[in-house]
Amino acid sequence: MRDFSADHRWLSINTATLRGAGRLDTIIEACARHGIRAISPWRDQVQAIGLERTVELVRRHGLALSGYCRGGMFPGVDAASRRAALDDNRRAVDEAKSLDAACLVLVVGGLPGALAGAALTKDIAGAREQVQEGIAATLEYARSVGMPLAIEPLHPMYAADRACINTLEHALDVCDALDPLRSDALGVEGDDRAALGVAVDVYHVWWDPKLEAQIARAGRGRLLAFHVCDWLAKTRDLLEDRGMMGDGVIEIPKIRAWVEAAGFAGYSEVEIFSSLDWWKRPADEVLATCIERHRTAV
Ligand code: ZN
Repeated sequence: MRDFSADHRWLSINTATLRGAGRLDTIIEACARHGIRAISPWRDQVQAIGLERTVELVRRHGLALSGYCRGGMFPGVDAASRRAALDDNRRAVDEAKSLDAACLVLVVGGLPGALAGAALTKDIAGAREQVQEGIAATLEYARSVGMPLAIEPLHPMYAADRACINTLEHALDVCDALDPLRSDALGVEGDDRAALGVAVDVYHVWWDPKLEAQIARAGRGRLLAFHVCDWLAKTRDLLEDRGMMGDGVIEIPKIRAWVEAAGFAGYSEVEIFSSLDWWKRPADEVLATCIERHRTAV
């Protein structure tokens, strides 16, 4: 297992962690100030300052992208909305490619219409079929441009509105179904990222008794991203009360050891949605704390 105690060269900041700090250019400047070497930005943050400007800032500061957030949201109430989702996913793939991201993260979607507050169906099996079809179509395009897709299983509390893939096992079953031969994303020597893999976010999967076995099953090429934060025992909000690493109940170093034993050698990406706490604090304080906890609690 890599030693994180001496420096933070393997730390990436998911820019949602700094949603309280302003626009993406401000966030990138703050990350650069703290010697952060990688980020993972969100599409809405990129759109607010423009893709070209984001590419320019990323290059100027020599930043890597541990991922790009996000594609997915495949289920739709009708054929037109499903088609619109596929178009949008192709654009997300193109943006990820322009930014040279390690992968496009997929939050696959839940029951059609549920995120907007009006689920028209209770058919979760049907939603899962739509998800698999959506990933298959997006994979075909992503393969053609060489952008790995990372399915992120979300905690089951989000099954209705955000993602009906809720375990690593299910995510890997989809990988096996759509890419049984574990094809290379790029076919480049020394880069074994699979065309289709997973993003392991400790917040979503820490509770799963099969976690260790499924991480081993994923193996090196399919482990495309590793997201960290912490589960607060007294969670006050289901979406925006994630904890700083070390403040909750997740055995993060144990999970990192499993992921690295399976061959993952990428960034440890801090992703904290926290309108109740961290988004209210100055960016410099948030980043200094992320760096300290990366060294001591990850
Ligand atoms: Zn995540």
